[in-house]
Amino acid sequence: MNDAHHGDGDEEATAMDAGTMDEGEMEAGTASPIYSLRGVERRYERGGSTVLALHDVDLDIAPGEFLSIEGPSGSGKSTLLQLLGALDTPTAGTIRFEDNELGSASDSVLTRIRSQEIGFVFQQFNLIPTLTASENVGLAMVPHHEPKANRRQRSADLLTRVGLGERAEHLPSRLSGGEQQRVAIARALANHPRVIIADEPTGNLDSESAEGVMTLLDELRSGDDAVTIVVATHDADVASHAGRRLRLRDGAIVSTT
Ligand code: ADP
Ligand code: MG
Repeated sequence: MNDAHHGDGDEEATAMDAGTMDEGEMEAGTASPIYSLRGVERRYERGGSTVLALHDVDLDIAPGEFLSIEGPSGSGKSTLLQLLGALDTPTAGTIRFEDNELGSASDSVLTRIRSQEIGFVFQQFNLIPTLTASENVGLAMVPHHEPKANRRQRSADLLTRVGLGERAEHLPSRLSGGEQQRVAIARALANHPRVIIADEPTGNLDSESAEGVMTLLDELRSGDDAVTIVVATHDADVASHAGRRLRLRDGAIVSTT
């Protein structure tokens, strides 16, 4: 029953440095990373030409971490998030998520990971305009056969958690951009994911709403169902909320702080 790789609670756990942990650190009792990427490359072939969107990426992400991925447009942020989200597979290298190697996992495993372990948040919110905030959140639970009463209760709880308890019955058009993104975050949490992946979540928000959304994401890491957060942004102020900042340029990690 005991899985040595899931040992935690070692108070002397060593801090992660440049981005990866070595075997020795893990065996010494450091909580093992939720993600481990080694030599990851994503190459796109299009009409005889090749775009190297991501290359030589080595990265460990610890459970409960708040990681930002910064970089200018075209630097590979979305490509990396799609790989982390099991929406895409690398053309070289390995991506271990928990006990799965995503590059060689079956479609059914990838589907399960996407739908149960990962919550997605996008720049455009992607709420269904004809459904209330509560219904938008509840809809995410339908594929998991949650009884309707449970869906309602959990939607209400999640909307309260993101500060929208009073707005649960509003249509998206009656909500501000910041509020719509909070609904999208509640929806991303609906199925108790271990990771939230957010691609430019503040790209359509004014700076005050952006602050609120980033503060909210940070708060999600406390509590019983602490999640790991990975946010892509081109905005340094937004990234400054993260516990660790990764910078991408031309598809490669150029710095980590
Ligand atoms: P970012 O999110 O940082 O703006 P992307 O990950 O979207 O960057 O893109 C990285 C590079 O990969 C860009 O040069 C982009 O044009 C290219 N790219 C992304 N997706 C595709 C695709 N489906 N086909 C071809 N090239 C792509
Ligand atoms: Mg992008």
